[in-house]
Amino acid sequence: MSHRYLVAGGAGFIGSHLVAELAEAGHECVVFDNLQSGHRAAVIKDARLVQGDLADEEALDAVFKLGPFDAIFHLADLSLVGESMRDPMRYLTVNGGNGGRLIAAAIRHNVPRFVFSSTANLFSVSGHRSIGENTPVQPGSAYGEAKYMVERMLHWADQVHGLRYACLRYFNAAGSDPQGRFGEDHTPETHLIPLVIDTALGRRDELALFGTDYPTADGTCVRDYVHVSDLARAHMGVLARLDEGSLRYNVGIGRGYSVREVIESVTRVSGLVVIPRLAERRAGDPAFLVADASRIAQEIGWKPRFESLDAIVATAFEWRQRHPNGYR
Ligand code: UDP
Repeated sequence: MSHRYLVAGGAGFIGSHLVAELAEAGHECVVFDNLQSGHRAAVIKDARLVQGDLADEEALDAVFKLGPFDAIFHLADLSLVGESMRDPMRYLTVNGGNGGRLIAAAIRHNVPRFVFSSTANLFSVSGHRSIGENTPVQPGSAYGEAKYMVERMLHWADQVHGLRYACLRYFNAAGSDPQGRFGEDHTPETHLIPLVIDTALGRRDELALFGTDYPTADGTCVRDYVHVSDLARAHMGVLARLDEGSLRYNVGIGRGYSVREVIESVTRVSGLVVIPRLAERRAGDPAFLVADASRIAQEIGWKPRFESLDAIVATAFEWRQRHPNGYR
C-alpha cells in the first residue's frame, strides 16, 4: 500500500537515501529542507521538495496542506559534534526548538507516526562495552543533549497525544548510494571517511588525527560505521512496528573500527596512502562508540547489508572520486 510521508531534512546525506528508498517502495514523499546543508540535486525527481525552515511555523504549517501524511521522518538537525561544543546554546535551542515545533505540528495535523534520527552521542560510556538500548543515557556533547531533549519531547507527545514514535540512534553514518546517485557532501566536511578519502585523492593537504591517547587498542577513537542505505532501510522497517508502541533502537553494525583502521581501509580500497598529522583530541568525542544492535535485529529483522568497513568505504570512495565537487 502506498503512503505519503513528510521527510524533514530529506535533502541531506541520510535523508536523500531514505527518500529514494521510500519512493522505490512506492510511497510519496514531501521533502521539507532549508537547503543549508542539504542539496536540491540530492532529492530524487519523484519527490516534492519544499524549501523551508523548521523555525518558520507558517511555512511548516503550509507544508501540511500537501498531506495528509502517514508519518513524519525528522532528519533536519544541525549535526556536528565538534561545532556543538563550541556553540552549545545554538545546538540546544535550534535542534531542541525545531524538534519541538515539528512534533507540535505533527500533533496539530493528526499525523500518527514520527521517526526521529537520534544519535549514539547520547552515550558516553567508559570502557569497551557495546551500547544497547538499556545503556544509561549520558550525552557526550550539546549535540547529543539536544537529541535527547527531542527524544523526551516525543515521550510526552506519545503519553499525552498518542503520537507513536521511533528514535533511531544512529552510530556513524557512512558510505554512499550503491547506485552512485547520492553521497556525502558537507561544507565544511568534518567527517572522517570523506576527509581521509579527499586526503588520499590529493584534494586536501592533510588529515588531522584527533587524539592518539584514548584508552583503545591503538589509542585512537573507535566508532561503528553503518552504511547510509542500511540506515534508510531501518527507518522503513520501524514504521510497520509502530502500531504496537513506540520504539528506541541503536543502529550500527555492531563492530568498531579505530580512526587508524579507517585510514588503513581507505588505503586498501584505493591503493593510496594517507599519513595523518597527529593532533589534539576534539572536544565531545567519546573514546568508544559501538552498537549492540541485537534488539532491532530481533524485533524488526533489520540487519546491515554492508557488514565490512571496506565495503562501506568503497561506496564512499566511488562517489567522491566521481563527484570532486559534490553536488555542485
Ligand atoms: N576524526 C579525526 N579527524 C578528522 C575527523 C574526525 O581524527 O578530521 C575522528 C573523530 O575524532 C572521531 C572519528 O574520527 O573519533 C569519527 O568522527 P566523525 O566526525 O566522522 O563522526 P562522529 O563520531 O563525530 O559522529
